[in-house]
Parts: sequence; structure tokens; C-alpha cells
Amino acid sequence: MIAKMAGAKPKVAVIGAGPGGIAMGIQLAAGGYDFTIFDRNDGFGGTWRNNTYPGAACDVPSHFYSYSFALNPRWSKTFANQPEILAYLERVASDHQLRDHLVSRARVTTLRWSDIDRNWTLETSDGAAHQFDAIVTAVGMLDVPNIPDIPGAERFRGRQFHSSRWDHTKSTAGERVASIGTGASAIQYVPEIARDAAHLTVFQRTPIWVSPRYDEPFTPEQQELFERDPEEALKVRDAAFQAYEAANFGVDSEMTKGLTDMAHEYLTRKVADPALRAKLTPSYPVGCKRPLQSRAWFPTFALSNVRLETSPIVEFTERGLRTADGTEHEVDTVIYGTGFHAADYLGSLDVYGMGGRRLRDDWRDGPEAYLGTVVPGYPNLFTLYGPNTNGVTSIIYIIEAQAEFVRRTLDDMVRYGLQAIDIKREIHDAYNEEIQRAMQGTVWLANCNNYYRHPNGKIVTQFPYSGTKFVAMLAEVGLAIFDRMEATACQESTTRR
Ligand code: NAP
Repeated sequence: MIAKMAGAKPKVAVIGAGPGGIAMGIQLAAGGYDFTIFDRNDGFGGTWRNNTYPGAACDVPSHFYSYSFALNPRWSKTFANQPEILAYLERVASDHQLRDHLVSRARVTTLRWSDIDRNWTLETSDGAAHQFDAIVTAVGMLDVPNIPDIPGAERFRGRQFHSSRWDHTKSTAGERVASIGTGASAIQYVPEIARDAAHLTVFQRTPIWVSPRYDEPFTPEQQELFERDPEEALKVRDAAFQAYEAANFGVDSEMTKGLTDMAHEYLTRKVADPALRAKLTPSYPVGCKRPLQSRAWFPTFALSNVRLETSPIVEFTERGLRTADGTEHEVDTVIYGTGFHAADYLGSLDVYGMGGRRLRDDWRDGPEAYLGTVVPGYPNLFTLYGPNTNGVTSIIYIIEAQAEFVRRTLDDMVRYGLQAIDIKREIHDAYNEEIQRAMQGTVWLANCNNYYRHPNGKIVTQFPYSGTKFVAMLAEVGLAIFDRMEATACQESTTRR
């Protein structure tokens, strides 16, 4: 065993340079830690670097979808578009001098804990291996695209790509396009590409509830005011925050019923054709799937070059897609707006913990963590935006609290001379039982197909309480809930790698 001198600061790897990795890097830099951020892409931004599809924008108001320590008085409108969000994230990373810590184009494949050395070995796809004392995963929840296994995909002679890997080498203008899926991504790019595609067929498996989006530009006068007086910007942020905190996604809550009625009324008002309206009408309450807002979605289906197809896709042909009714839809391009393997947390990593246990095996019945952040049997491993941290708030708010928690815990480990900590299993298990109990009666368990569920039906992505409660619970966590392994109090400081 390599002795670690008590009081030495852990060397930390952060996986992912998106909003989580940036928040974590800022905390680690402020704490004087030796740390490296690995990302398979060529810069900061994460999901906002990957998702460059036409119309990509945040559906949480930007004044709230931003760090509390880096408010942006210059947001151009309520829901900023992807280029503006990416520029913001890059600016925050740059302002905090994170660039020197970033190893880009490095795809982390494997993490292995050593019970002997009490550290992690991190392997990248180029075969390199690096040792770290602690690991923070910040890979997001929407990391691995879901590409449905449609028979015959290899024989299709046109192009095909996923919404998060948009092919910008050639425009869809003037093309015959098929778009599969009607989720949060499709609702944003479908109206955009419908403008100039020769023909667009939208393949819908399940209709979605859509409410109008209130997206207003901020005037130069407002932006100047926010810059001059941050309290004014905080008022805008706080209004969004309070609206989210007031949400109650009980399946029978007044809010769920009210939102469903309003969405139904909006659909009725916007879609005059009864047959089309019937196809677009969901059979589940608002909230069972992620609530969506758009003013452009329903009008798109009134365009002469757009068709809504509800017959299921059965196969690819050389020239397009065939549906169950026997129709061959000839197209030049197929776009998968089919979402991500959201419930398969850390699906892109192979993680081995104490005694060689494998996270994929431990999470066979669904991923679990204590407050979405620490997992028993995987010491010194922290997961930002981990299991059951998604919900009705800005994820930046949650991530920021998690990054603060990780920094505080590392500081405590140094202070108390600990080499490793491992969340006590009974505390982890009791927490997860409690949140699964709280999940009963939520709209997420209503009768719809959503990405919040593990194949066994358990909700693994959502936090069943408010964002404030999550942050308050995390703030109370101290070292007492961990099994602790002390650092060796020896003089051999040079033995540390
Ligand atoms: P999604 O919401 O999971 O939607 C995927 C769509 O693909 C659904 O309509 C689904 O149909 C369909 N689909 C999946 N597999 C299919 C198959 N084999 N055959 C036919 N259809 C299939 O994915 P997403 O639109 O990419 O959004 C994912 C998440 O990304 C969002 O919920 C949100 O959290 C995030 N996002 C956020 C923003 C933002 O503004 N912040 C923007 C975009 C995305 P079913 O409904 O029948 O399953």
C-alpha cells in the first residue's frame, strides 16, 4: 500500500466539461486542489456543445439556468438559444482559468478503485491510465443518444443522424426529411427545418402536451439595469425560482389538473382539423412526460410540406422508411429525435469499486445514490446530476449545490486526515426507500412512456421534492454518514505517486 501523508490534498479528476464540470472545477480551483477535467469534446459546454440542432434553446429561463455566482445581465431573451448558453459557459470557464485543467478529446472509458492504494485509476480510450484520489463524474444525464434499432438501417442510402449529433455539413433545405420522435428536442428543431425542407414527415409514437412559450427579448435598457443593479437581475431569477418551487406534480394535484386542462384548451384552439387534433391529443396528464412549451409546434402541422405520421415505423428501405400500414416514405435524411439513455446513469463508463464490484451490476435494478451524489462501495466517487436529482427546477441550481458539497467533503477529509470515505450503506438504502415511497402518487408514474423510469418501472431520474429541499438536505451532510479510512501519518510525502 502506498502511504499517504495525513493532511495531503487529494488529487481529483472531473469527467465532463459541461455545466457540472465547470461548477466543480471552480470549486476545486478555489480550494487549491490539483485537478484535471477530462472531456471527449474539444472544449467546455457539455450538452450545450453537443446539441447544435436548429432552434436549440433552454426551456428553463436563462436568469435561473445560470450560476448564482456568475449572473449574466446580458441574456438576450427569456429562454436563451444554444449559442448564447455555450458562450456563457465558455466565458465562466475562462473567467475562472479552467482551461489549463482541461484535457479535451479524451474519452474516459473505465474507473477502477484500488483497495490497496486507496485511489482510482482512470483509463481513457487511447489506452492511457492516470491515478487520482477522488473522481467527480459530471457527464450529465443526457449523455448517450438513444438510436432505435430499426431493421435495415444499414441499407438506407440517405443520411441519418441523431439530434445531438446534428450533421451541419449539408442543410436539410430542399430535402425530403423524416424526423422520428416528438420530445423536447424535436419540438425545437421540427418547426425550424419545416420552413425550407421540400417535405418533412414527423413520425410520432406518442403525442405530447404543449403549452405556449412566453419567450420575450430583454431590451437594452433592461440589460443595462441588470448590469448596473444585480438586485434587479436577481428579481427575475427569483421569480422563475419561486414558480418552479411552487410546482406540485402529484397525479391528482390541482396543478396537474389545471395544466392539463390548459394544454387541452391550447391544443383545441390551435388545431382546427379534428382528425389531426385527435392524433395530437395525449391520453396522460401533463407532467408525466417533461412539460413542453412552443408556439411553433402545432402551426407546423398546418404547413403543406409537413405530415404527421402515426403509423409505426417497421423498417428502413434503401430509399427511406416503411411504416406498418405498408407505406414507403422516401426521404433524403432521417433525423433521430429519439432522446437519450437517461435512466442508464454513467452508461458510457465502466466503474469498478471496492473488492472489484462493478457499478453496472450494482445498478442492475436501477441506479441509486445517496442524494444522487455518493454510492456505497465506491469510495471518493461523486456523481453530479446523479440518480434522482432531476426534477422541477434549474439543474444548474442542483449541480452548484453538489459541487459545493464535494468541495466541502474533500476539505473535511483533509482536515481530519482521511484518505477515503464511503457512504454507509444503511443510510443510502434508507434514503432511497424514502424517496421511492415519496414517488408514489406522482404524475411521473401515471400511464405514459417517459425516460424517468428504469425498465423495471422504478423512477430513477426524478427527485420527488423541491429543489430547495434537495439543497437543504445536502447542506446538512457531514462526514458522520461515511465509513472513513484514515490517511497514514507517515513522513514519506514523496511516496505519493
Ligand atoms: P425525449 O424527450 O426522450 O423524446 C424522445 C422521443 O423519441 C419521444 O417522442 C419518443 O417517443 C421517441 N422515440 C424514442 N424511441 C423511439 C422509437 N424506437 N420509435 C419511435 N419513436 C421513438 O428526447 P429529447 O427530445 O431528446 O429530450 C430529452 C431531454 O433532453 C428532455 O426531456 C430535456 O430534459 C432535455 N432537453 C432539454 C432542452 C432544454 O431546453 N433545456 C431541450 C431539449 C432537450 P415516446 O414518447 O413514445 O417514448
